[in-house]
Amino acid sequence: MDKLSLVVPCFNEQDNIEPLYKAILEVFNDIPATFELMFVDDGSSDGTFAKISQLHENDDRVKCISFSRNFGKEAALFAGIRNVTGDCTVVLDADLQHPPELIKEMYSRWKEGYQVVEGIKQSRGRESAIHGIFTRLFYRMISHAVKIDMANSSDYKLLDKSVTEELAKLKERNTFFRALSFWVGFKKTSVCYEVADRASGRSKWSTKSLMKYAIKNMVCFSYTPLHIISIVGILFVLIALGIGIDALFSYFRNSSASGFPTIVFLLLVGFGGCLISLGIIGIYIAQIYDEVKKRPQYIIGRRIG
Ligand code: UDP
Ligand code: MG
Repeated sequence: MDKLSLVVPCFNEQDNIEPLYKAILEVFNDIPATFELMFVDDGSSDGTFAKISQLHENDDRVKCISFSRNFGKEAALFAGIRNVTGDCTVVLDADLQHPPELIKEMYSRWKEGYQVVEGIKQSRGRESAIHGIFTRLFYRMISHAVKIDMANSSDYKLLDKSVTEELAKLKERNTFFRALSFWVGFKKTSVCYEVADRASGRSKWSTKSLMKYAIKNMVCFSYTPLHIISIVGILFVLIALGIGIDALFSYFRNSSASGFPTIVFLLLVGFGGCLISLGIIGIYIAQIYDEVKKRPQYIIGRRIG
């Protein structure tokens, strides 16, 4: 019989643990496979770990890796992937926004021979307009870097053992699961789902933390910002050339070019451009520094199962 591993990152999800467990049990009534339910407690400060231990007492298919502090969802996902034992792995959120019933469809696709079955969001759920614009821009850049359309992709995926083994081997610290699961290749397909409302609790993402996440992942996967700097640099040189030629013509026509405001404008634009460029390069250097230090992506404090 096949064994499915379910990896569930949780950060302060105490009220969602049991409903999710029940939903999973129901799903596996209809699938001819066994499962292990691997919760990754990402340094929760509420009763998440206690809830998981309770479940484990009655059902040893429930397992848990608990971090020594909050390391973030990416770290939780990779900790899960590195510790699964199933023939394939499904990664899903704890808050029931990723409908567990979809596992049935993912499973049958996997049985057909697909190694990566991706959950595609039909709608993006409720989001603000600014958030929408920002995410679209972000995904356009990442899609360009990975060469695959990622606009509606999500972290809800089924991965064959061969895929999780490859992902587990990656040594980078700043991981971006959604793009890396494309990057590794393998035979892919997708299934669609509607994003449900959060079952309980609040989203852990503020606009600020999403921005930071986006910038980090952009730097991880795309060199486009660095290319943009070069293009802006070339544009500045062209503008300068244009102005130079104009000044030369004015000189020969004995009419002086409008001086001071132009110079102030160019200085400010040039200086601003330099600072922005330095900032962008700085972000890349910080990422390199982060990777070079080779600190672990997460620290496991306790384990169940
Ligand atoms: N999560 C996590 N660590 C974090 C933040 C979130 O493990 O630092 C988990 C969270 O418990 C949930 C999933 O990641 O299972 C998605 O988080 P959330 O629902 O807050 O994000 P959203 O659905 O709003 O994108
Ligand atoms: Mg959620």
